[in-house]
Amino acid sequence: MANRVWTETLYDAYGQSFNIDRIFFESKTEHQHLLIFHNAKFGRVIALDGVVQTTEKDEFIYHEMLTHLPLLAHNAAQKVLVIGGGDGGIARELCKHTALETIHQVEIDQAVVDMAKEFLPNHSAGAFDDPRFHLLIADGNDFIRQTEERYDIIIVDSTDPIGPGGSLFTTSFYAGCHRCLNPGGILVTQNGVPFFQLDECLSSGKAFSQLFSDWSFYSAAIPTYTGGIMAFGWATDAAELRAVDKATLQARFNARQIETRYYNPDIHLASFALPQYLQKALGQIADA
Ligand code: SAM
Repeated sequence: MANRVWTETLYDAYGQSFNIDRIFFESKTEHQHLLIFHNAKFGRVIALDGVVQTTEKDEFIYHEMLTHLPLLAHNAAQKVLVIGGGDGGIARELCKHTALETIHQVEIDQAVVDMAKEFLPNHSAGAFDDPRFHLLIADGNDFIRQTEERYDIIIVDSTDPIGPGGSLFTTSFYAGCHRCLNPGGILVTQNGVPFFQLDECLSSGKAFSQLFSDWSFYSAAIPTYTGGIMAFGWATDAAELRAVDKATLQARFNARQIETRYYNPDIHLASFALPQYLQKALGQIADA
């Protein structure tokens, strides 16, 4: 019998609920309310400020799509920046790419890192101890504004634009990412569920269109990011990277011998196919 039912508060008038069998951690950190609990369907769940961040059951979809897709499209990345990502799932998937030399991660909340390591250890799976990995506890927006580092790929694994995550959806932040990308670099972002958060795609898309010569979104459906497909922002000045063909992706994927449960070259290509309502809304930005 569940001790408590927890309802997500991301949206008004609607929210998914989880029976809580056990609470592992609940506290206000320096930046946000952090809750970690167990649910019979999704295993251990991390929620920040009332919003599901990641669950043991479906995290692989999101973390594989936000790492392997840009890395295989780029194919020569040596240095990657992660903004956010405190649970370590992105870092875990990045470490599978042996050609990567440096992974910088800028996460604002030490408590998320510590509690995720303790209660969801399979998310980071030792990535935080990889000699290529370097963690900085700071605001990603402050970092991107000041750093002189340059990266081949920047992955924004942020919360929704609530609380500290808000600054990671601004044009000035994206301009900082553009500045910090090496030639041929790619920016990918967690960009919300367009069925409920279309405005996030439109505002990110508008910023991308002003800063990058090629931009779009790709998608995947992650059950606990409710509302259908989640959109991932894609922005680069190397337009050809969005058009890598299946045979090339397959050869790259095979060569890396990376074990995945969701990502494969077919999904890679298909994920850039967007529903009509989203294409139409984004088309108005491109025409503006
Ligand atoms: N997959 C989740 C999603 O799609 O919403 C995101 C998971 S991850 C836990 C989000 C991380 O972003 C959190 O660890 C949070 O602390 C971090 N974060 C939020 N705002 C930030 C900021 N301004 N700078 C750096 N990290 C930030």
